[in-house]
Amino acid sequence: MSLPIPTPVVTTVAIVGRHERFPIRRVFCVGRNYAEHAVEMGHDPQREAPFFFMKPADAVVEGHAQLAYPRSTSDLHHEIELVAALGRGGADIDPAVALEHVFGYAVGLDMTKRDIQAVAKKQARPWDLAKGFDASAPLSAIVCAGQEHPQRGAITLDVNGVRRQTGDLAQMIWPLPDIIAFLSKQVVLQPGDLVFTGTPAGVGPVAKGDTLHGVVEGVGEIMLTYC
Ligand code: MN
Repeated sequence: MSLPIPTPVVTTVAIVGRHERFPIRRVFCVGRNYAEHAVEMGHDPQREAPFFFMKPADAVVEGHAQLAYPRSTSDLHHEIELVAALGRGGADIDPAVALEHVFGYAVGLDMTKRDIQAVAKKQARPWDLAKGFDASAPLSAIVCAGQEHPQRGAITLDVNGVRRQTGDLAQMIWPLPDIIAFLSKQVVLQPGDLVFTGTPAGVGPVAKGDTLHGVVEGVGEIMLTYC
């Protein structure tokens, strides 16, 4: 088969302790999955069904030392999140076995153009370009899950050494098995899909020159500077 343009490149990320790399298929993100963050965004943190949005696979960039401040925003926000990388797909996955579909975990940043998102919300238009812009999903290397699935542990983000976000994985409104179960009723999940599991309270603006350092206990860390 000949193709009229160069074959699009599959985005991959490093796997801790392996030479193999993890290929990314799709990026699903959960909105408002920590009660205090729902409140800070002006919403009622009732346990309504989780909702999802997406980023393109090539929005994922590995924990780069430096990232260019994105264009078309003056209010870039950080959202530190636990990310699950799926090694097995499926539809209508039972929460009881959902974690068997997880290949590993990473620390991710759901970078958000909050000003663009606010306009889209007000006009009842899609958020896509506020969330799915180039390099909007910085990611650490993936740690293989094995039998270890982080269900509690600190999740924090510092900007220039000052703590901005803090929470615990146990505070998720919908834990990962439920998220996978819900998502697999809407799409057939596939190996290579990533799931960003939501951010704790304390989201805020990032300026040029800021250094972000995010940590998820038991998973890893990510550090980068916007220039
Ligand atoms: Mn998020």
